[in-house]
Amino acid sequence: MRKQVPVQDGLFSGSAETVRLIGGRCIDCQNHVFPYQSGCPKCSGTEVAKVELGTEGELWTWTIQGYPPKAPPYVGDVEEHDFEPFGVGYVELPDELRVEADQRLGRRGRDIRFCSERCRQ
Ligand SMILES: [Zn+2]
Repeated sequence: MRKQVPVQDGLFSGSAETVRLIGGRCIDCQNHVFPYQSGCPKCSGTEVAKVELGTEGELWTWTIQGYPPKAPPYVGDVEEHDFEPFGVGYVELPDELRVEADQRLGRRGRDIRFCSERCRQ
C-alpha cells in the first residue's frame, strides 16, 4: 500500500477512511472558508473557528484540465507532451461552500461523497 501524504499540513483531519476537510466558519457572519484562514473574506471578521466540513455535496460544475497546472503552486515535473488531461470540478457542500475537487465520474448535479483515494476502490 502506498503511504498517503497530505499536500499541505492542516487541510485534512481523520484517517484515510474518515478523511474530512478542515475549513473555517466566521463567528460574526457564519461564512465558511477552505482552507482555514484566520480572517473572514466576506465581512473582514477576525474570529474564524476551525471546523470539519461536510463529506457530501453536489457537483456544481466541472471541466477538463487540458494543460499542466502553472507553477507555483503546482510543483510537478510533467512536460507538456507527457501530460494527461483530467477532470476537475467544484462540489457544493450544503450550507457551507464550494470546493475544488478531482472530477472523474460526475455530471452536473450528481451527488458526491468526499473520501480518500482508498475508498474509491
Ligand atoms: Zn464573516
